[in-house]
Formats: sequence, structure tokens, C-alpha cells
Amino acid sequence: MTLDGGVARAGGERPAGASMEFDGEPPEGGGPVAVRLLLDEASVQARVAELGVELRGDYEGVEPILVSVLRGGVVFLADLVRAAAMPCLVDFMAISRFDASEDTGVVRIEKDLELDLSGAHVLVVEDIVDTGLTLTYLLRVLAARGPASLRVCALLDRRARRIVDVPLSYVGFEVPDVFLVGYGLDLDERERGRRELLAVEDLEAVRGDPALLDLPTRPDGPGRLPPV
Ligand code: 5GP
Ligand code: MG
Repeated sequence: MTLDGGVARAGGERPAGASMEFDGEPPEGGGPVAVRLLLDEASVQARVAELGVELRGDYEGVEPILVSVLRGGVVFLADLVRAAAMPCLVDFMAISRFDASEDTGVVRIEKDLELDLSGAHVLVVEDIVDTGLTLTYLLRVLAARGPASLRVCALLDRRARRIVDVPLSYVGFEVPDVFLVGYGLDLDERERGRRELLAVEDLEAVRGDPALLDLPTRPDGPGRLPPV
């Protein structure tokens, strides 16, 4: 499922999968739009349900270990295990980039897994793969522990920014190169609980006025298309 252009300019094509876009009317006060709705709750949930069915089929007869990377991936994981409704184990890891400004991909393990991966079928559940640097490093670490299989399920794939080619077995949506917030993804560690995915076009405006994040999903908000 591709969402390229999912935050299309006013008057642009309505992208498949994205539930709405601005219909040409500038928001109150004019000026550029700070936040757009990329995926509403129903679109996210429908895709997560599909991924769950796919996983249940692919992992039939085995009990995989689902590895979630804190903190962004937990919302997706929580919905995915329920959608898959299959025998599985769940474990968590926390990592941090040594230097976010450097594209080395070297990360520090802040919290390691508790389960033993040797001989296990391991599925890394990620919120979003951007450059792929973090995930590549993580996969190298996990592969060294001798799992029987090692795959990745990423809800969002921002392929345009990929630096390292990392194989993704399952992808929810391909997304455009714009900062995303909601459904586990944070804005300065906040907003992870939002059910929808928002594309933040103007980060500073939103930092100054977090209420802007509510506009695209308000029934009368500027991101709402008129009812048909
Ligand atoms: P990369 O693939 O560049 O190594 O890093 C991916 C990680 O960066 C993700 O797991 C996520 O934590 C963070 N990240 C990447 N893009 C976004 C985004 O648009 N919004 C938020 N909140 N985090 C992001
Ligand atoms: Mg992540």
C-alpha cells in the first residue's frame, strides 16, 4: 500500500489509503497548513488487521517471538498481536542512537531482551523505517544470537530516505518524507496515544501550539472534506 503524495497539496489527487486531504480552502487565518491527516484510525486498523491475518498464516505451527523496539513500536505491536491472535511471545528492547546527527547507525542498547532468541523465529515489529540505519544495526545484533529466522514487520516505510537497504518482510504503508506523529510516533515524547497518523508540515508551529494537531480530525476542522 503506497502513500506517496499522501499529504498532497491542496487541490491535488486524493491518495489511495489516505482518508482525506485539504480541499483547497486555506485554514482560518490563511497561511500554509501545519498538520495534515495522513491516515485515519479506520485506515490504520484495517491495514493492521490485514497484517495480522498474514502473520497468522505465515507463522502457523510455530510460536514466534515478536520483538518491539521501545517506545514508538509499542502501539502497533499491541494492536498487531491482537489482530494476529496467534501463539507468540512478546519481548521489548530499547535502543538509542549514539549521535542522532551522525548517520553511523550505531546504537546503544538501553534495555535488552529477556527472552533467548537461539533457535527461535523472531519478528521485529517496528513503527517506521526511515534511513534503515537503526534497524540494520539491530538486525545484526539479533542475528548474532542464532534465531531460526529473523524478519521485520514495519507499519510505515519511508523508502525515499533509505540509506541502507534493509529487507522488510511486512509493510503496512509506504509514507512520504514528512515528519509523522501519532499511533506510537512521538512529538518530543508526546502524542503517542493518538489513534490516527498526522503529517506535521510545520514542526515549530505545532510546538508553539499543540492544539494544531487536533484540527485535521475535528468534524469542522480545515482538514475535513465536506460531507457528500
Ligand atoms: P532510522 O530508520 O532512520 O534509523 O530511524 C527510524 C526511527 O526513527 C524510528 O523507529 C522512529 O523511532 C524514528 N522516526 C523516524 N521517522 C519518524 C517520524 O516521522 N516521526 C517520529 N516521531 N519518529 C520517527
Ligand atoms: Mg522505532
